[in-house]
Amino acid sequence: MKQKSFLIKPEMNKRYKKITHGRGVYLFDENGKAYLDGSSGAITVNLGHNVNEIKKAINAQANKVSFVYRSQFTTNESEQLASKINGLFSFDEDFYSFFVNSGSEATETAIKMAIQYWQDRNKPTKQFILSRWFSYHGITRGALSLSGYRKRRERFEATLEKSPQLEAPYCYRCPFQLSYPKCNVRCAYELDTVIHKMGSTHIAAFIAEPIVGAAGAALTPPKEYYSIISAICEKHQILFIADEVMTGIGRTGDFLAIDHWQVKPDIIILGKGLGAGFTSIAAACISESLYSTLAKNSGFIMSGHTYSANPQSTATAFAVLEYIENEQLLKQVQKKGEYLMTKLTKLLKPFDIVGDIRGKGLLIGVELVEERSTKKMFPRQNKVLETLLQIAEEEGLLLYPAQAGNGVRGDAFLIAPPYIISYSEMNLLLRKIVKTLERLSSPDK
Ligand code: PLP
Repeated sequence: MKQKSFLIKPEMNKRYKKITHGRGVYLFDENGKAYLDGSSGAITVNLGHNVNEIKKAINAQANKVSFVYRSQFTTNESEQLASKINGLFSFDEDFYSFFVNSGSEATETAIKMAIQYWQDRNKPTKQFILSRWFSYHGITRGALSLSGYRKRRERFEATLEKSPQLEAPYCYRCPFQLSYPKCNVRCAYELDTVIHKMGSTHIAAFIAEPIVGAAGAALTPPKEYYSIISAICEKHQILFIADEVMTGIGRTGDFLAIDHWQVKPDIIILGKGLGAGFTSIAAACISESLYSTLAKNSGFIMSGHTYSANPQSTATAFAVLEYIENEQLLKQVQKKGEYLMTKLTKLLKPFDIVGDIRGKGLLIGVELVEERSTKKMFPRQNKVLETLLQIAEEEGLLLYPAQAGNGVRGDAFLIAPPYIISYSEMNLLLRKIVKTLERLSSPDK
């Protein structure tokens, strides 16, 4: 059958293998070849494939009602999910969830919530959202405007809002040529400088991925970073939006990645792992104080989608969260993450092309370089990352391409297996990575 799916990227000139089924950490193609899903798809399939408990919940909901229009009714399923999310947050304030269908929509919703909140506080000029380079917040144009990911922006640059303003906390290649801790976390204090330049009367919010995913391969800021950011935001009356689309729902070992820094954002966006690949669902969650301002004044949020809060998705996401709790998966993510990180650090040491290994929990980034001592990047036209992914696939291992260098320079990838991966499967994953790097380093192998 000729492939007509428009999702296939024509420039890659690649005939995609057809997947017929999945189970646990494996996907199987039409020829019966097994792929160890080392990236949980797009850091999404956190519980693995084909999970009985979730399938049961999906069927049970399909037997009740699948769709209810959000402007006409609410449902037990949506209310339960919002309460569950609130219960899993570790803050001293309640959070309210607005459900959408993708991470990009959640970013768009968060932008609108922030602007509308300041309108309701009689500060209508506060409309601008600050963001960082080496970031990704979504593909829709509002979310793309905030994304410091040049390759995804450049075709649309003229139509986007002003580009990101801040440097990323990229310690391996510090944008200020400093090193931690002597740097005094200059990248965090830069927020203050930028706000002074632009004037806080125009700024509604600052958005950041607590640990940068696709645009930086698990860039993990120093321990002081987010408390400095949060204090600067508070000082200037600017909301802090944590984009936890990739890092949330336990990926880094805490329910939210921002929990590692013990900071409370004003808005938190979730996606990917919330539906864990079983349904498309995302959420923009706002603190009680924002919610009550919006409820008392506007009385609504000027956003929403046809499929927002459909009970089929909310029931599925609820089952995903229950499964994570019942199986105590967060503890497992912490332990397995430490195991993988320790092993990777040791096993990849002999490879001079491995420049940096970073991340938390089961979100681990590996940055490749021409030589470790100089940190020199490979010329992008060498397509080192593409070759690595191809070799890994041949070895039956799926990895996630990430960018070092704004998507136009640098090669990096993410290792982010499902939380249910066993220790023997992790050992197999490690063997496959070593084999892949051996073949990449000496192509005759
Ligand atoms: N935010 C982050 C941090 C992401 O990693 C992504 C997707 O990769 C998005 C937002 C956009 O989510 P979606 O692809 O579901 O629209």
